[in-house]
Amino acid sequence: MTPTPRPYRSYVYAYPHKTAYRALPERPELAALWAGEPKDALSLYAHIPFCEVRCGFCNLFTRIGAPDELTTRYLDALDRQAAAVREALGDAAPVRFATAAFGGGTPTFLTAAELERLCDIAEKRMGVDLRAVPLSVETSPATATADRLAVLAERGATRLSIGVQSFVEAEARAAVRPQHRADVEAALGRIRDTGVPVLNIDLIYGIDGQTERSWRVSLDAALAWRPEELYLYPLYVRPLTGLGRLQDPAAADREWDERRLRLYRYGRDHLLAHGYEQVSMRMFRRTDAGPAGPDDYACQTDGMIGLGCGARSYTSALHYSFDYAVDMREIRSIIDAYTETEDFSRAEVGRAVDGDEARRRHLLQSLLQAEGMPVAEYEERFGSSPFADFGPELARFEEYGWLAADAPAGLLRLSPEGLAHSDGLGPELFSPAVRAAMAAYEAR
Ligand code: SF4
Repeated sequence: MTPTPRPYRSYVYAYPHKTAYRALPERPELAALWAGEPKDALSLYAHIPFCEVRCGFCNLFTRIGAPDELTTRYLDALDRQAAAVREALGDAAPVRFATAAFGGGTPTFLTAAELERLCDIAEKRMGVDLRAVPLSVETSPATATADRLAVLAERGATRLSIGVQSFVEAEARAAVRPQHRADVEAALGRIRDTGVPVLNIDLIYGIDGQTERSWRVSLDAALAWRPEELYLYPLYVRPLTGLGRLQDPAAADREWDERRLRLYRYGRDHLLAHGYEQVSMRMFRRTDAGPAGPDDYACQTDGMIGLGCGARSYTSALHYSFDYAVDMREIRSIIDAYTETEDFSRAEVGRAVDGDEARRRHLLQSLLQAEGMPVAEYEERFGSSPFADFGPELARFEEYGWLAADAPAGLLRLSPEGLAHSDGLGPELFSPAVRAAMAAYEAR
């Protein structure tokens, strides 16, 4: 039997990954890219790349602090970009947004007045009716202040997502985001006071020193708020202490994988026993919560408008964004360059998505959902069978025990073990070209 891939290889939240994007020498005009696209159910995503601290586990595109009125300049640029994108969408066909989200970074790093401005940009420039569509906003314990939350609630937020990571102070310190539990609880109280219908809490497992017992403390503390959604994230940066003392790095990796799998199973079972259903490896939803929000399903259709220097946009044939980096200095210079940009009418960096890549993306995104992929939907969209298109891959998944043998007819669904190995399975479906581009990407 082929050895099973390691369970934590990469979190496939978007395919192809940004490290497979490249500069587009022809700099295509947005108006041409969007000309033939359906525009009646677009998604808007605005990216705010600022945080008050840099969490030790974070590899998102964000910087610490915003000196010299940088947030003002950033919002000025966002406004210019929004105007250019809206113009490119044209009015030949109706333009309508079905969902909106502000992410980061930490959108609530912005002041209340700046959040008002961000909502104005979404509404007045882009034409999003924020009070009529689901609007999801990310926040953090320190920035979830009453005045900011009041703006978001008043402007139509339907979901507030807070990164708590751990309610255990020693673990928060170990994950390099020191915070007091009392402050976290107070922030959660302020979020609940807004009456925004969906609260999501993010937690992390795999932190140095975390045990089943301490993991349960965090799970129970989160459950006490009866959040409509909970995300359980595996930590991706191997702790240097503890496991770092093992002489053999491969043995340390194996041990850490096992530890994370144990904590994952513990967390999953605990939530399932407390009235939650599993939506994907990371996501759990309270079974008696209202109807699903915008983040509850993998968006299979294209039509994503990203605003801000870390946001992606998707047409059916091209995914594009701005330059990408993980190194702090590079991130700062990309943000500075974004704030100085006057011409937002062209796509600068991206990757074409052809028929093969679109099939991979569809399979990836639906297979990683606990409910599985309706085979007929795939066949109808692509005119071919997933078993013909991905025969060897699916045979391998079956061999690993990752496919549910008891799935209803017509549904391709992961087994509980398959779901547990989502981050090992996802990369198995990357195309050779995307793999090569990702491998050739020089981490900056
Ligand atoms: S608050 Fe979120 S985006 Fe900012 S550094 Fe921490 S994990 Fe990353």
